[in-house]
Amino acid sequence: MSRIAYVNGRYVPHGEASIHVEDRGYQFADGVYEVCEVRGGALIDARRHLDRLDRSLGALRIAPPMSRAALLLVLRETVRRNTVRNGMVYMQVTRGVARRDHAFPPADTPASIVVTARRSDFAAQEALAATGVKVISLPENRWPRVDIKTVGLLPNVLAKQAAKEAGAREAWFVDAAGHVTEGASTNAWIVTAGGTIVTRPADAGILRGITRTVVLEEARALGYALEERPFTLAEAHAAAEAFITAASTLVMPVIAIDGQAVGDGKPGPVAMRLRQRFHDFAEFSI
Ligand code: PLP
Repeated sequence: MSRIAYVNGRYVPHGEASIHVEDRGYQFADGVYEVCEVRGGALIDARRHLDRLDRSLGALRIAPPMSRAALLLVLRETVRRNTVRNGMVYMQVTRGVARRDHAFPPADTPASIVVTARRSDFAAQEALAATGVKVISLPENRWPRVDIKTVGLLPNVLAKQAAKEAGAREAWFVDAAGHVTEGASTNAWIVTAGGTIVTRPADAGILRGITRTVVLEEARALGYALEERPFTLAEAHAAAEAFITAASTLVMPVIAIDGQAVGDGKPGPVAMRLRQRFHDFAEFSI
């Protein structure tokens, strides 16, 4: 079964899918993206992902390339054509193709849009969650507008590579005040020795993860003590549990930070319970 990508109005074989050399996404990382989980063929929390896409586009003053209804059709059709039951759908919108010049192109320049879908190995993800992952920490070096989900991800790329080279899966950025902001592609959480779930507020310094929002609702509904406040690496080292969240990993237990075990060095019960319950609280859209 060959993969199909949607590129500016056409469904094309993945291997032949291409964008123009002067696409501003390619030239300037002048674009935004979203990644949405697909489970049982359905999009998970599509409404929230599309709300965030609108917000990111608005923040960069990029006109949406199509209506939300049309985009939903394209997302579903891309998932269908790739026969994805469990996996991810990726969408990227850039400020379009124009002669290279930093300032915005003429207002009638259409945005570019690409949608791809791919399967994920559900069993492998579950096995990873049962083992847990390691993270390293690095100084925060991203621009202050990380609340916008832009394709400009160079610090995140370098951080992930550093994590990989250190035998870890994720890197946590630590700001100048010594607080963990978030992971290179995930939000960061701890569970204190007293059982309180802590994650950084999303008003600044992090991306407001959709999974984060759902997990907060879930934790509240399950009656956990919850604090949205910054936490330090020292607190994370002393925590009973740590975990990360993203549409691509869901709730993933963290068993070590910078080579130091978190809690007993095994996935914690809170993280595992939240992982298990995630789909009860997520919004399935057919
Ligand atoms: N933080 C960053 C920097 C991310 O790139 C992502 C996801 O890609 C997240 C957090 C988690 O967001 P979501 O739960 O919406 O996938």
